[in-house]
Amino acid sequence: MPSAPEPARPHGALYPYLRPRLSLGDPLRLVLLGATGSIGLQTLDLVKRNPGRLQLAAVSCRSRVDELAAALAELEAAQPDAPRVLIAVTDANAREQAARIPGWRDRLLSGGEAGLIEAVTQSESPSCLVNALVGAAGLAPTLAGAARGLRIALANKESLVVGGELVARAVAAGGAEVLPVDSEHAAIAQCLSGRDPREVARLVVTASGGPFRTTPAPELATVTLEQVLAHPTWRMGPKITVDSATLMNKGLEVIEAHYLFGLPYDRIDVAVHPGSIVHSLVEFVDGALLAQLGTPDMRMPLQYAIAGEIHWPLATGRLDLLRMGPLVFEAPDLDRFPCLRLAREAGLAGGTAPVILNAANEIAVAALLAGRLRYVDVPGVIADTLARLPRGPVEDLPAALDADARARTEAAVQVDARAAAGH
Ligand code: NAD
Ligand code: MG
Repeated sequence: MPSAPEPARPHGALYPYLRPRLSLGDPLRLVLLGATGSIGLQTLDLVKRNPGRLQLAAVSCRSRVDELAAALAELEAAQPDAPRVLIAVTDANAREQAARIPGWRDRLLSGGEAGLIEAVTQSESPSCLVNALVGAAGLAPTLAGAARGLRIALANKESLVVGGELVARAVAAGGAEVLPVDSEHAAIAQCLSGRDPREVARLVVTASGGPFRTTPAPELATVTLEQVLAHPTWRMGPKITVDSATLMNKGLEVIEAHYLFGLPYDRIDVAVHPGSIVHSLVEFVDGALLAQLGTPDMRMPLQYAIAGEIHWPLATGRLDLLRMGPLVFEAPDLDRFPCLRLAREAGLAGGTAPVILNAANEIAVAALLAGRLRYVDVPGVIADTLARLPRGPVEDLPAALDADARARTEAAVQVDARAAAGH
């Protein structure tokens, strides 16, 4: 290996390979966006479990104000001396309801997406942004967190799919750091701990395979929404659960891994591993393969990212090696799951291609969840949207948002055409 100085950010990687993690005082003050979602609620659970170490600086929800109020009241009773928590409620009606909650009016931020940005920029001495939003809506808050120099515990993978280059630039300029929450990327980060990127041969991102791993192709045309949502190993929010059934989630994760770890797409492989025990692997240039194993519990990777890649104690179920059974790995079937191929192609093409892919997928998933689109029609909506729109570079946030908006409009047309055809 050459003895030249080690590059801290190889190939523009977001992940701070050899750099020390930000040194942040105790307790860590969290800006938690998407507090009432699956990752959001698990973050609140971690705050409750780590009273000396974690505090809230700001929280956001879209509409589940009652749930947020209950969770916040419990935390504030347990931490009476903690500074006041700012609150953003994005939905207009829900925000009116929130303004009537005693003690909330004078700490309620703007409605809509502006409130998400204010949570990041106006909170008092925050240390870490936990971005648990779903979809491209997470990008602008990620960029705001980067500009403020925060540690970003990133669950919102769409931030990187839509604006990977923008986030990399903003993180470098703001002196921020991005640590992955996604279990696969947190596993890779643990395998890479203290490693020089030049030691790495390839990444192997594991996939559960979803509920249709063994379903024959002809049967995919008639699967129900209930079957789509029956994920075999993880309990998650609705969008990522659908993405796991189409394998689009794995496609988005390949793009996420590309930006995080700075490796080209031909060195990021996917292996279907039905048990969700091996969370991902890294192969080094000498053939050594490191893996991270554990039970499927998102609080593990979530806490690891928030803590700045330190293993704090966590009382959760332990993996019983003697009872877990054999570890099985299979190649993904790109014919039955074309979304994985589409995502790889869009990632390789770069520019607005992954923006269009992501937006079309968000529209298709929403239509599927609303009962307007069949499972089997999701890839077609995405492929046709990609085929119909021009591609370009993503120089800045407005360029990304513009491509996102155009793709949503086109994807809605594609959904309508399929709904009108009576599918
Ligand atoms: P979820 O649907 O359960 O929660 C999303 C949260 O974001 C909710 O609080 C919702 O109100 C809010 N939100 C959504 N869209 C918004 C918008 N446009 N403006 C403002 N708020 C909005 O989702 P989740 O499953 O917690 O997933 C969050 C992110 O974490 C996703 O990017 C997902 O891919 C990723 N992730 C989740 C898991 C998991 O186990 N749930 C695992 C790995 C990665
Ligand atoms: Mg994942």
